[in-house]
Amino acid sequence: MRNVNLGKRTVADIDGQVAKVLRGLGSPEPPINLHIVRDLLKLDRGYYSTTDDSLLKEMFSRLKVGGKQVLMRPTLLADAVRTLSLKALYLPDQKRILLDRSLPPLKHRWNEAHEIGHDLIPWHAGMMLGDTEQTLTPACHEIMEAEANYAAGRILFLGDRFRAEAEASTPSLELVRTLSKGFGNTMTSTLWRFAEQGHGGRPMVALVTGHPHPTKRKVDFDPARPCRYCIESPPFRERFANLTELDLFQVIVGYCGAQTGGSLGQAEVALRDCNGEPHVFAFETFFNRYEALTLGFWLRPQPTVAPRRA
Ligand SMILES: [Zn+2]
Repeated sequence: MRNVNLGKRTVADIDGQVAKVLRGLGSPEPPINLHIVRDLLKLDRGYYSTTDDSLLKEMFSRLKVGGKQVLMRPTLLADAVRTLSLKALYLPDQKRILLDRSLPPLKHRWNEAHEIGHDLIPWHAGMMLGDTEQTLTPACHEIMEAEANYAAGRILFLGDRFRAEAEASTPSLELVRTLSKGFGNTMTSTLWRFAEQGHGGRPMVALVTGHPHPTKRKVDFDPARPCRYCIESPPFRERFANLTELDLFQVIVGYCGAQTGGSLGQAEVALRDCNGEPHVFAFETFFNRYEALTLGFWLRPQPTVAPRRA
């Protein structure tokens, strides 16, 4: 899945909303405490559980799916949560965010910021976001989700602060790890933000995949769709639109070893741009025992003319 390209106007609008919040909090230092963000926005937070559904029942009693009241039977409530693939909910009329308690706490932070994003984005107002997939077209839903994710990133990485820190050093997964600790966010969300915001004008790509080595692939590995995420910097998207997720995965396979954790390898590789010109990229991959995280960024054009003999 590739990151959605949001328009300049949308990005500027969301940046403005988040900047207002950060100013309201007196430009806090990282890591940002989402509790104070919620206080400022007068947002309440609760949890729901797909096994204990008393709260869920109360919420779903007013939640309509496709204009029809969701049925009240507990098993169907749990089914509804699964069918809608809900990770969290935002109830605008109550200014209330509900997080799925069964998810690992590390994921709560992103989901909470995502729901705060829905609250912040003016054109998401008035929507009951639990029922989006049924009442919005999938394309429209995808854009709104991308907008809320973008807002979440701007909140969790403190607006332009992350960009400044990311661009102050040479890109590397080690730098991504340092930023992840400093901003208090997961390695995956930091890697995502790094390719979108910390690219410094370079073509850059980040990938989240299964283990690339043929002997280490899991049974559910899908060779047609090897990338869970493929995040491209705007200059990469513009100049290397010819490369598919499969092409990029093959690049990773080319240099990765079969290690069961830690660094799987790094290499300088040549990628051809839309005009067929070759460019040298630095790639490196790290395996956290669940997923392989890869960062690749542009180094220089590759000379195409063979050197002449003296
Ligand atoms: Zn959402």
